[in-house]
Amino acid sequence: MNDSHPTTTIDVALGERRYPVWIGHNLLADRDRWRAMLRGRHALVISNTTVAPLYLQRVTQGLEGLEWSSFLLDDGESHKSFSNVERALQALADLGATRDACVIALGGGVVGDLAGFSAACWMRGIDFIQMPTTLLAMVDSSVGGKTGVNLPAGKNLVGAFHQPRAVVADIDTLASLPEREYSAGLAEVVKGAAIGDVPFFEWLEEHADALMAHDTALVIEAIARKVRYKAGVVSRDETEQGERALLNWGHTFGHALETAGHYTTLLHGEGVAVGMVLAAKMSERLGMSEAVDRERLQRLLQRLGLPTTVPAGMDPQHLLELMRLDKKNANGQLRLILWRGIGKAEIVGGVDETEVLAVLQAAMP
Ligand code: NAD
Ligand code: MG
Repeated sequence: MNDSHPTTTIDVALGERRYPVWIGHNLLADRDRWRAMLRGRHALVISNTTVAPLYLQRVTQGLEGLEWSSFLLDDGESHKSFSNVERALQALADLGATRDACVIALGGGVVGDLAGFSAACWMRGIDFIQMPTTLLAMVDSSVGGKTGVNLPAGKNLVGAFHQPRAVVADIDTLASLPEREYSAGLAEVVKGAAIGDVPFFEWLEEHADALMAHDTALVIEAIARKVRYKAGVVSRDETEQGERALLNWGHTFGHALETAGHYTTLLHGEGVAVGMVLAAKMSERLGMSEAVDRERLQRLLQRLGLPTTVPAGMDPQHLLELMRLDKKNANGQLRLILWRGIGKAEIVGGVDETEVLAVLQAAMP
């Protein structure tokens, strides 16, 4: 499409379910690229009321000649709900969608998770294409096949592994993304580097200011490096029997902080940023790592516009209770992702709750 900005392609190597992640400019309108992924006559585009007015038309222009419709969610995490899955499935029924139909997810992680789960359910699983429009969705949620929705009882409690047929990351859509959401996406980039890629961590330290200035070549490279890292992990451990759990670094603390803040105080990426710092502190307390590594992590996060301290007013005991609900726990014991310094994360089971509480208490503002 645009010769001065070649598109980067990353292969998610999953045998016959392998798929490309395309990262570049003007990709939504580049139907010659993505339309080949549609097998049948039917397409349902799922988006939301914020993203659709900006970008839906670029996609639907590419659906000319097919039978398609769109289903728009209201904006926000609370709409990643079971009742909206039912509405999405009804939209597929109204369309007369057959097993060769395709669902297209145009939006952030909320849209992607719900659309992917709906595609996994319709006729026991149809194709879907991810068209992520947030940085977080480009570097994280659109890749790897985890789909799902929330219940009143908790986040992401219902879901399925269902890989997309392709991921179309059009970085031009980031132009309209609020700065705070952009930084939240960078937290998931830092996470990948911090758990397993030292050269990438150093690269981020070198280019943090340029990334904050939205240097597009560097933004593309940052997305590509994180996606390449995640694709490698997913191809080795698709259903999280082992290594993939490392991607939850910062998430046990982070989810507790998000929940304690009723999902309004902290964005997911912000919770992960603070959560990574707490996990590093926990590692220090257990004698696994040195303060210098945590300080480097904190500095990088701060330069990327992210919080690194627990918000005022949270109760350590309550945070610990929320951490007990984490999906990684087994046999009533806390399992955390800890590290031995930058690039060296590991899963640690049977973590003593009094140690966790001590870390939380020491971290209170
Ligand atoms: P989001 O989908 O809520 O998007 C954030 C905000 O940005 C929303 O208000 C949205 O309407 C708006 N927006 C999206 N694209 C925009 C654009 N281009 N311009 C302007 N505004 C835009 O949140 P998110 O951070 O993208 O995703 C968070 C969700 O992803 C959570 O539900 C989380 O559980 C899920 N998630 C899933 C995985 C996975 O592996 N499946 C991984 C990480 C996160
Ligand atoms: Mg995450």
